[in-house]
Amino acid sequence: MLGRASKAFFHLVSQSAFLKQLASRYGMARPTSFARRFIAGETVGEAIDAVRALEARGFTQTLDHLGESVASLDEADAATRDYLGIIDAIVEAGIGRNISLKLTQLGLGVDKASAIDNLRKVLERAEPAGFFIRIDMESSSHTEVTLDIFETLWEQGYRHMGVVLQSALWRSAQDLKRMNALGARVRLVKGAYNEPKSVAYQRKKDVDTAYASLLQILLTEGHYPAIATHDPEMIELARRIAGDHAVLPDRFEFQMLYGVRRDLQRTLLGGGYRVRIYVPFGREWFPYFMRRLGERPANLAFVLRSIAGESR
Ligand SMILES: Cc1cc2nc3c(=O)[nH]c(=O)nc-3n(C[C@H](O)[C@H](O)[C@H](O)COP(=O)(O)OP(=O)(O)OC[C@H]3O[C@@H](n4cnc5c(N)ncnc54)[C@H](O)[C@@H]3O)c2cc1C
Repeated sequence: MLGRASKAFFHLVSQSAFLKQLASRYGMARPTSFARRFIAGETVGEAIDAVRALEARGFTQTLDHLGESVASLDEADAATRDYLGIIDAIVEAGIGRNISLKLTQLGLGVDKASAIDNLRKVLERAEPAGFFIRIDMESSSHTEVTLDIFETLWEQGYRHMGVVLQSALWRSAQDLKRMNALGARVRLVKGAYNEPKSVAYQRKKDVDTAYASLLQILLTEGHYPAIATHDPEMIELARRIAGDHAVLPDRFEFQMLYGVRRDLQRTLLGGGYRVRIYVPFGREWFPYFMRRLGERPANLAFVLRSIAGESR
């Protein structure tokens, strides 16, 4: 219940233009500023530096250029051009070729056909360079259209891409069957959005139970699953299911967010598992940052301590 209330609260706060302006001024200003714990930087160069440090320690990564819900086709075009530039920068830097993006960033909320065209441009640039493109899942009002677009492009032969399913949504068991039948790679998450009771479990316990049951199906029937969670119970369960069904550690991967449970990230890597870190960067970091606070209000104490430290 608290989890839901805190998600709703931070969702509301994330829409405050005043706080956004304030946070933008201080959150990333210095190397020790509070948002840097969760955001790799504002530029692609800073993100590449962060990735190099992760890769040197044995992690893989997926880069996310922050931004969502653009309001015009011009902004969507600009976001698409940004992604094309990021692909080139990654190739030049020689780091792992894996990107996560959001369809509303490419214009889904403005015009579906344009968003599809934009995604196709990214996929076309990415394919010959050997990239994998993960389409993040946004709030439930976008679930069906996101999966539809994914399926359409899959049918057209684009195979270097994957989707995300959220255990918070009732529909996800059906969607998992649908994606498994396609042969698509699925990242399983609990879900970061504040969803209505008409479509989503409201109690954390129920979201966790659903995660456990989807995990079982994904690991035994899925295609190179990505188990994206910091929940030690779910991670232990994944290890057990994999062990029981002889799913070798190179047949799936754990995924975690940059700056979250770094202890667990290291432990899993040390235990011989593949661990991919989701590395967000860019100037539009405020809504992403607010979602991380909503998941764990204790992070607010971390932010306040950092601010107090900086003002000394
Ligand atoms: C790689 C990756 C990609 C994701 N992509 C999407 C996506 O496309 N769409 C989407 O809706 N959601 C996405 N998420 C977010 C996800 O839905 C959850 O909101 C988030 O991962 C928190 O849930 P949890 O599974 O870690 O479990 P929880 O039960 O929420 O947390 C378990 C434990 O993890 C730690 N923890 C969790 N969150 C935080 C935090 N913010 N700060 C510090 N500690 C924390 C705490 O110790 C907590 O007790 C993604 C998550 C990951 C890891």
